[in-house]
Amino acid sequence: MTLPRVRDDLALFSGYHSPQLDVEVRLNTNEAPLPPPAAFVDALADAVRDVAWNRYPDRAATVLRERIASHHGVDPAMVFAANGSNEVLQCLLLAYTGSGRRVVVFEPTYALHSHIAHLVGAEVVTGERGDDFTVDPVAAAELIDEAGPAVVFVCSPNNPTGVVESPAVLASVLGAARAAGALVVVDEAYGQFATTTAVDHVDADTPLAVTRTFSKTWSMAAARLGYVVAPPSVVEDLETVVLPYHLDAVTQLAGTLAFDHLDAMTERVAALVTERRRLVSGLDALPVDQWPSGSNFVLFRPRDLSGDEVWQGLVDRSILVRNCASWPRLEGCLRVTVGTEAENTSFLAALGEILG
Ligand SMILES: *Cc1c(COP(=O)(O)O)cnc(C)c1O
Repeated sequence: MTLPRVRDDLALFSGYHSPQLDVEVRLNTNEAPLPPPAAFVDALADAVRDVAWNRYPDRAATVLRERIASHHGVDPAMVFAANGSNEVLQCLLLAYTGSGRRVVVFEPTYALHSHIAHLVGAEVVTGERGDDFTVDPVAAAELIDEAGPAVVFVCSPNNPTGVVESPAVLASVLGAARAAGALVVVDEAYGQFATTTAVDHVDADTPLAVTRTFSKTWSMAAARLGYVVAPPSVVEDLETVVLPYHLDAVTQLAGTLAFDHLDAMTERVAALVTERRRLVSGLDALPVDQWPSGSNFVLFRPRDLSGDEVWQGLVDRSILVRNCASWPRLEGCLRVTVGTEAENTSFLAALGEILG
């Protein structure tokens, strides 16, 4: 059998993987540590029985879009939902980039931005964050000016660093993007853990799209649901590139019903932020450097041992964190997700033992 070779431009490319090991404490993928509220799971189970299984789902996801839109105080025409915010990112890149077009990212940042850009054949132009991992507003504007991209990504709070961009960065990037005719995509997968949001700046005349996900805050990573708030014309373009009936009936229901449990979610976010503070003070007392986080994870670097040694020491104690030690600019770094109180306590105790 002779199969076609994979596209030449992808030949050296591998997929995106986060190693999954069987451990007791999983703090490696920034998921919520708790399942969604039981009342939500019951409501969803009831609703699933009534799905018209022989029919295609509502292609426009009308009810879900209305719930998302009213949550953000925008028109439903400014909302597009898909299978995880990753599919939203893919649709944005399919619609606006591809061969002959450029995408600007500021590294280190979420790997999928440049990964999907490469998959669709776009050229990736990389700006570097400073040592504190923030984007320099002046340098960012200059880079956008020079590169003439179609899409500019800003991830805030940024994964894997946790750092939140200042309003000055967004203003500067938006100004340069407007002049370049580019769309700014702010990835707010962790937006609920921070105190500011770019959603407030989205309107019909601003080249800004803000992506969100149910995977992290909403304890619904298994559902694969994300969305973007964007100008109506952007939403129309996304509808052009997405596959028909991409969002299945159960996912639409899950997202819609989740909004009935907003208070429980808000409480969980608050509890995680409290736990994050405890984790940060615990790390402060250990020989590690860390970066300020507006998210549900913390990036840190052990001072005296290598990142690989510490990562392995944690795995030996049945605790899994993300090993970023070999990633560019993140030499020796590990990223720990905020877990339950008990999980964070186990993590801090194990880390203390390894470093002590
Ligand atoms: C986890 C994550 C996503 C998300 O994903 P889904 O496809 O919605 O699960 C997007 N952006 C960032 C920065 C993330 O960390």
